[in-house]
This record gives sequence, C-alpha cells and structure tokens, in this order.
Amino acid sequence: MTAEADTQAYRASVLYFVADPQHDAQATHFLEDGLLVIRDGKVVEAIDYTSVPTARLKRLPITDYRGKLLLPGFIDTHIHFPQTEMIASYGEQLLAWLNTYTFPTERKFANADYARQRADFFIQELLRNGTTTAMVFATVYPQSVDALFNAAAQKNMRLITGKVMMDRNAPDYLRDTAQQSYEDSKALIKKWHHHGRLLYAVTPRFAPTSTPEQLALAGRLLKEFPDVYLQTHLSENKNEIAWVESLFPERKNYLDVYAHYGLTGSHSVFAHAVHLDSDEIHTLSASHSAVAFCPTSNLFLGSGLFRLRPLKNAGIRVGMGTDVGAGTSFSLLQTLNEGYKVQQLQGEKLSAREGLYQATLGGATALSLDDKIGNFLPGKEADFVVLDWAATPLQQLRQSQAHSLDEKLFALMMQGDDRNILATYVNGTRVYSRL
Ligand SMILES: [Zn+2]
Repeated sequence: MTAEADTQAYRASVLYFVADPQHDAQATHFLEDGLLVIRDGKVVEAIDYTSVPTARLKRLPITDYRGKLLLPGFIDTHIHFPQTEMIASYGEQLLAWLNTYTFPTERKFANADYARQRADFFIQELLRNGTTTAMVFATVYPQSVDALFNAAAQKNMRLITGKVMMDRNAPDYLRDTAQQSYEDSKALIKKWHHHGRLLYAVTPRFAPTSTPEQLALAGRLLKEFPDVYLQTHLSENKNEIAWVESLFPERKNYLDVYAHYGLTGSHSVFAHAVHLDSDEIHTLSASHSAVAFCPTSNLFLGSGLFRLRPLKNAGIRVGMGTDVGAGTSFSLLQTLNEGYKVQQLQGEKLSAREGLYQATLGGATALSLDDKIGNFLPGKEADFVVLDWAATPLQQLRQSQAHSLDEKLFALMMQGDDRNILATYVNGTRVYSRL
C-alpha cells in the first residue's frame, strides 16, 4: 500500500460556509471530527473523519489538529500596508489624521529598501493573524507596490494591491500627475496582474486627492483592463463628504463622482460607505459594486456607524476590512468583535455565523473571488487557518461554559485575536506556526 504522497490531510473540527447563513439555514458546514484533504494546493474535499474507509486513512498523511478549529483563511478587503507602523496614532479624525500622521509616514516608502522591509513585516503580520488574502493600499510610489507584490509572491498569497493615484490636495512629495499615474499603473498592471495569484487594483486614494483628469484616466485603465480591480474610499467622514461636494459641485453626491468617471462596477470595492444616501445605495447595488466594512477604523476615527443591514438587504456585497492603520487590529476576529458592537448601537445583531461568513466567503464574494477562495468546496485554493478555541485562561473558562456551537463561535469571535491563530496555510503550504 503506497501513501498518497502528493496529498495532505488535516484532522480537526472544520467550519465553512457555502452561502450567507443570514438567509440560508443550509449555509453552514460544520464537521465536529472533520478531515480536510488537500492536493496540489487545492481542496480535494472536507469530510467526516469517521466516514473515511480505514484503507484510505492508512494511505493519507494526516496532520492531527484534533481539538482545534479549521476555518478558511480570513479575507481583509481593506488595509494600508504603509500605515502598519503608525497604528494607534492619537487624537485626530480623518482629514487631520491624514495630514498629521499618514502622509509623512507614506513618504518613507519612496525608499525601496524601506518599503521591502515593511512589506515583509506586513505580510508576516497578516499571516500571524490568519489572514490569507487582502486588498491593500500601497503608496503613490511604484516601488512600494513592487515591494508588496514581491513579499506576497514569496508566500504564494492571493493578494490585491495597487499604486495610490493622488495628484492634488496632498504634500508635493506625495503627488503624482494624472498622466504619470496612468503610465505607472499601466506598467504595474502588465507586470503583476495575474502574476501567480496576484491581482492589481487601480487605486485613487479618494475623490479629494484626484483631479477630474486623474479620475478619468483611472476609468480608462478599467476599460483597458476589464478584470483589474478598483479600490478607493467613500463617505467615511462628514467633513470629507462636504469637501467632495465643494470640489465636485456638478455631481449629485459623493458616489456619483466615481460613477461619472466609470469607477463603479463588479470589481470595485469602496471602503467605509458609512454615510450614504438612498441614491448612493441604489447606485452601488445597480452597478454591482462592493463595500468594505471597517468597524475598528470607523470607531477609532469617530467616523460613524456602518449600516450593514440596509446595505446587505439592498443586495450589496460586503467584506470586512481592518483598515490598519486607522483600524486598530490586524485580527479579523477583533474586527468582527467591533462590528458586532457597531450593529448593537443600531439595534441590530451580528451573529457569529454571519460574522465568520463575512470574514471568509463573504469577503471572497466582495472581491469576486468566491469561485477560488472562501470555503472548502472541492477545487478551491487551499488557504486555511487552524485556531485554538481558547488561548487564555479567561477564554478557556468562557468556552467551558458554552453549550452550543453558536455560543462557542460567538465567544471566539468576541474574545479571539492573533493568540488564537495556531497555524496558517497558503495554497496548501504552512506559512505560519505559532509554536
Ligand atoms: Zn483606508
């Protein structure tokens, strides 16, 4: 009897979703004693351990994670890699925070060596937190984009990033020009989009820092490269919204600026979307655009409360975003913890099932990658994370008093963080282990 040498199997409790559990009682797949089988970086199947014939079990090289929980890798749909080092910067709301902390920090990334060091740290921090895919803002400097793509490629991660386009209302040292940003973005798309698992996002920072000419060229890039992504910020802060109105008086609302330049669509992800009017919600829905819900950031910068329920009810795809460095944690579990509180403040709930769906398959759906990642259906790319149910005495005590799967998952979602991440696998390979 020969071993299945090209196959690996992992025995643990296995949880994944095949749809949004908010609407579908059959969406949750939970195997108390499960076996995840991987071959060539892809999921073969996730099955009950006890259903596997003994003869086959003998052929499979099995890693024993009994007592642990195996989930699809977390997906962060909005984060800034250059802002890693300025997380937890005191006292400002969005516009002053950008000028005081963000722009001087991003300037350092003109230095390619500096960018490389920070990119390596950033990727390691994602993996330490169980995040296997992220949609990431780099800086205005193309060398910072190269640094991040290179660091992600070394781990074979599915990662999306792009060069920030910013040609006004920013310091001289961070401004490009409309034409230069177009040419630099185009060169980066040709170099990196579909290089391995990597994907490119056209990245105007937000409407106030781009001229109409630059936004038009961003739209031209999306027309020239139809499966490239668009990421930007939308309606985060009330002063920001008033500023957009004064800069673009001819447009009917903030989102209409982006829509006018052809920046909405199925591969567009708008971060925040906190203060939308009904016309903007309709436009997001009609254009099949997605949004990133960034609760730790929205609370930290005092921006406002994201209206998860109305947006989802309008059919808009929502992913979770940490938005580090305005967000205060790389952990998607901590992000869900704050997301739950944001819903509580609006008289709504966020169950653990819905939350964990949003951080896995929901994020994949928001990024139009749900055919490739987000759960353990056969053929999916094998990105997954091994969690400890409890990583501290208090977590152990709480878990010991939890009597249902929902109760256990909710306590994990509220109390868990990077300490609960035992191991992270990307494309079937272990890329992080806490032990
Ligand atoms: Zn952001």
